[in-house]
Amino acid sequence: MEEAVSLVNGKAQSVDSPASVLIYPGDGRESGRTYSANMSTIDTAVDSAREAFQSGIWSDRSPDERAKILALAAERIRSSKDQIAELDRLDMGKPIARSKEDAIAAAEIIESAGRAATFLSGTQFPAGPRCLAYNEQIPVGVVAAITPWNYPAPNAAHKLGAALAVGNSVVLKPSENSPRSALIIAQCAIEAGVPENVIQVLIGGKEVGAALAEHNAIDLVSFTGSTRAGKEILISAGGSNAKRTVLECGGKSPQIVLPDFPVSKALVTKLASAAFANSGQLCVAKSRLLVHSSIADELAALFVEEAKQHHPSDPEDEKSLYGPLAHCGHFEAVQDHIRTADELGLNCIYRGEVHEAGEGLYTAPVIYDHALGDAPLVQNEVFGPVVVIQRYESEAEAIALANATQFGLSASLWTQDLATARRISRSLRAGYVEVFSTDNETEFAPTSLSCEPLRQSGYGVEGGLDGVRSYTAQKATVYFN
Ligand code: ADP
Repeated sequence: MEEAVSLVNGKAQSVDSPASVLIYPGDGRESGRTYSANMSTIDTAVDSAREAFQSGIWSDRSPDERAKILALAAERIRSSKDQIAELDRLDMGKPIARSKEDAIAAAEIIESAGRAATFLSGTQFPAGPRCLAYNEQIPVGVVAAITPWNYPAPNAAHKLGAALAVGNSVVLKPSENSPRSALIIAQCAIEAGVPENVIQVLIGGKEVGAALAEHNAIDLVSFTGSTRAGKEILISAGGSNAKRTVLECGGKSPQIVLPDFPVSKALVTKLASAAFANSGQLCVAKSRLLVHSSIADELAALFVEEAKQHHPSDPEDEKSLYGPLAHCGHFEAVQDHIRTADELGLNCIYRGEVHEAGEGLYTAPVIYDHALGDAPLVQNEVFGPVVVIQRYESEAEAIALANATQFGLSASLWTQDLATARRISRSLRAGYVEVFSTDNETEFAPTSLSCEPLRQSGYGVEGGLDGVRSYTAQKATVYFN
């Protein structure tokens, strides 16, 4: 049983607060303990990160050197794949095969951030012979990285990788529900050569996150989590030292199926995977299915059949693709969303059953049809395996429904007509749009892709070259001679 304690200047802190118990969502049993950082630990971590930044020990290394060390960190993460995966399985009940994929993804993310930063060039401006004027991207200083529990290892890697690649120091606060893999990832980076005072990991919940958002020695908070917490962070950031913020918050993303797209098993397999991956616990979960009324009955029936493939199973089983929900409070919140939809009379067309769950937090897919735009289930993020089908009559109505929530994270569009695809995708208020003209795509999106959420899904670019740029400031220097 591994404990989660803060890692400050490369050393696990002595236990300085009462333990909280970590519960394995697969069976409700204790899987470890976690000790929240107190204020003095938080200050030590932030002050050390700042000293490290100012010393130039990391910030003055060349991008190539930093990229080399991050590539070594990635190698160590790959070698620690089984340990990282096991901790994510225990912390949030993610099926072990998926957790291993996450660990490998974390390594790729860190390595590619290092690589991207080597391409981050500035601009030299035309000037006369006695003047040299240029812009360069400089690290912002000390970055607080606050992450959620749904993809513990990749989330930590996204923020650590990009922030470190451009020379910042980082204080990482993983979710209180899944804190342990981030400690291993940070340890891998330190062993690879990132100075131990450049990466600090603070264990704890909302209070520790809030202390970082309010801290006057933090220069940027990079946050992924709920829209509620994102807004609280904005208030803390504004009320303290007006620090920069990068926020990736909630979503209620639509998949729009146009009537020209052939309805098939292959199509619903894709639609269901996008909705039920990670048991629906992902910010880009495609939890709204917008279907033209002429194909809606046929598609809904096939979609229900497909949902049956996403039945909860034991995360320890290598074949499991769909685990329990991540923690008790979240399980209750998801049940509340379902109860409210039922009480409001939404038309439930599928309610998957859970067999032999014991104390596990298993929830099978639930599907509602004929949902109207103002239904709470259409408007609110559930972060669980609950899909609403909305039927539309015209392209204009499909666009209006797709855009009629507070969110703007992602969307997918299924049509074989290029002009329609272009027209609709331009109108979608979403930072990341996937257009499928085939249900048999053979490539993945490039890992160098950058994107930025819209509306109350947040802002700030993540991924690729522009993703590392988010962790820099643009500086102008003018030499006169
Ligand atoms: P979830 O409900 O999915 O756990 P949250 O948005 O509550 O998502 O939490 C995501 C991360 O943000 C976690 O690390 C959590 O501890 C942290 N957090 C939550 N509320 C705040 C806050 N007000 N200020 C700073 N961090 C917060």
